[in-house]
Amino acid sequence: MRVFNFAAGPATLPLEVLEEARAELSDWRGSGMSVLEVSHRSKAFLAVAAEAERRLRDLLSVPDNYRVLFLQGGATLQFAAIPLNLAGADSRADYINTGAWSKKAIAEGRRFVGGLAVIADEAASRYTSVPEAAALAVRADAAYLHYTVNETIGGVEFPYVPDSGAVPLVADLSSTLLSRPLEVARFGLIYAGAQKNIGPAGLTVVIVREDLLGRARAGTPAVLDYAAQAAEGSMLNTPPTFAWYMAGLVFAWLERQGGLAAMARVNEAKARLLYRAIDASGFYVNPVARSCRSWMNVPFTLREPELDGSFLAGARAAGLHNLEGHRSVGGMRASLYNAMPLAGVEALVAFMAEFERSHG
Ligand code: PMP
Repeated sequence: MRVFNFAAGPATLPLEVLEEARAELSDWRGSGMSVLEVSHRSKAFLAVAAEAERRLRDLLSVPDNYRVLFLQGGATLQFAAIPLNLAGADSRADYINTGAWSKKAIAEGRRFVGGLAVIADEAASRYTSVPEAAALAVRADAAYLHYTVNETIGGVEFPYVPDSGAVPLVADLSSTLLSRPLEVARFGLIYAGAQKNIGPAGLTVVIVREDLLGRARAGTPAVLDYAAQAAEGSMLNTPPTFAWYMAGLVFAWLERQGGLAAMARVNEAKARLLYRAIDASGFYVNPVARSCRSWMNVPFTLREPELDGSFLAGARAAGLHNLEGHRSVGGMRASLYNAMPLAGVEALVAFMAEFERSHG
């Protein structure tokens, strides 16, 4: 029996996709082998890789002057790859700090960029908000501006795309890519670990504007050099073939759902339902400013934290799994990625109301 899995990542995947993969696992397309067992350089796998890229480009309407890379190392390795590719050791680079994942990107960035500056920091709001668009003062000579579009732990999402002028905008979209349409042309580079809305862990998608290629500083490892990876079709070495194949199945599933505009409608409805239930109760609390509440990750606490354990146990018994908040903050968190159906959120909201009635 499938449960509703609210994990933040690795996260729930569409059942259809899992069944498709299972159906062809031991004999993939009549080859007598699984997709796990074939060379990444085989004609059959190259076709899978190319098709996944084409589907992703279609879904996001990626302009022709952007390259799509399928890499390894997670979003965390991109925290280092970005400064290595886009900035010199003595350059300036600007960052916005909206919470836990921004902080990790900043800490890693500092290892590589002497002139790193945090140009906006939401500490005063306890990371429950994003800076005002008009308050962002990007340095004109910065190599790039980095921000975290959706803070997976804090549940804070930018409702706007920052204006960085001529400075390339670099965005960590790990927990929100493909949740709705995106104007890729606003960005110099976007990146996302796959394990939320794309597919299994082990794959990282990077979409980078061509004029930003070929600038990697001396000493950059080849696998981290975007130009080198682009030249080799992301196959400078063995790529995560199974994750890439699975991502292709997820992209096809997204097309069948009607694409990203359709996903946005469902995702907004799911989020609205849950936030409404939280706000209408006197029992559950979400601290995030309404204008920047995440559609993907909804953290909430109980007014009486001593009930956390029985809430989680009761939810589990009702088939609602992995609602524990991140280990650094506690409380609860419901992640509502693309593969979480509206029915899952309806079941959660019904459980929350019932739990409040019996414990409130
Ligand atoms: N950025 C964000 C916004 C994330 O949510 C995560 C993972 N939860 C990361 C970066 C790090 O990703 P990875 O574990 O793939 O390195």
